[in-house]
Amino acid sequence: MKQIFAIFLLLCLILGGCTEDLAPAEREFFAMDTVINVKIWGDETALDAVYDLISADSALFSTYNDTSDIAKLNQDAFLVVRNETAELLQLAIHYSHETAGAFDPTVYPYIKSWRSANDAPPELTHLSDRIGFDKLVLDGNTASLKDRAMIDLGAITKGYCAQRAIDELIHRKVETAIISLGGNVQTLGSKPDGTAWAVGIANPEKPSEAITVVRFHGSMALVTSGTYQRYYEWNGKKYHHILDPQTGYPVENNLASVTVLCQDGTMADAFSTALFVMGYEKAIEFWQARKDFEVIFITKDGSIHATEGAAPLLTDCEFSIIQRIKTS
Ligand code: ADP
Ligand code: MG
Repeated sequence: MKQIFAIFLLLCLILGGCTEDLAPAEREFFAMDTVINVKIWGDETALDAVYDLISADSALFSTYNDTSDIAKLNQDAFLVVRNETAELLQLAIHYSHETAGAFDPTVYPYIKSWRSANDAPPELTHLSDRIGFDKLVLDGNTASLKDRAMIDLGAITKGYCAQRAIDELIHRKVETAIISLGGNVQTLGSKPDGTAWAVGIANPEKPSEAITVVRFHGSMALVTSGTYQRYYEWNGKKYHHILDPQTGYPVENNLASVTVLCQDGTMADAFSTALFVMGYEKAIEFWQARKDFEVIFITKDGSIHATEGAAPLLTDCEFSIIQRIKTS
């Protein structure tokens, strides 16, 4: 009897231990104007490391913080920046080239005008000489801005911070984690209980609800850019925050949101913004020419369009599939 009880006790301990292993350690905090949620299976102490990293990085890149590297660079047009900032600037230049300027961090003079406009949309044409990603130059850690250009890295900062956090977790030998920063989600590994990750994509008409859920196993970055996230409003007309670098005005096309899925958080963030700027047809051409990411588009009529690699991950919704043109 004693023996049976001992075995029973052992079993309880093992099962109890397993249940504990299956439950993640979790931390929620606010940075980059977003609620950030981190879940880690395994080494709980890594939560502090992720918190410290994201807090420090986001302070370094914010245009709202006068002492940040980016604010100082904008003010003086010249700065020897920290390594993290140099890496982010280098990535910003890289993705500006890759997207032929659909993603362009030099839209900041336009953004400033939108932020300070009082009772009507701002007049922007006089600012166009200051825009263009070729005005941002990086030589090692020395950054400079030509022609009174100014930069804003808001379109890639969350993706970059998530990627840096995931890299830190890998360095600490954490095998499973999920980091969520509003429209940015990045996973590491697969859940220990064997179930799939399930990441909802906001319904642009009702952003607190999911229009569809992406289910998958393993590591992935998923980043959504949409018109509904942030906007200004005058006389009942909404002006959203994704700007056409050619004009400085909000991009007008038939897209309501673009979700990019790939292995790199910074790339997913840069491309989600850039594909939104390109519009549906050009974005598909861009995707056709590459093989390193997938996309889920939601058009203004509420329909869902998934590239053929993303389609198998969508389950509970109707959608059309965008096929790759086969080249021989
Ligand atoms: P969010 O930051 O809300 O998740 P995005 O990643 O799409 O959304 O980034 C949008 C932000 O990037 C804007 O708020 C603005 O600061 C900046 N931005 C707007 N248009 C562009 C653009 N064409 N290229 C680069 N940055 C942009
Ligand atoms: Mg983005």
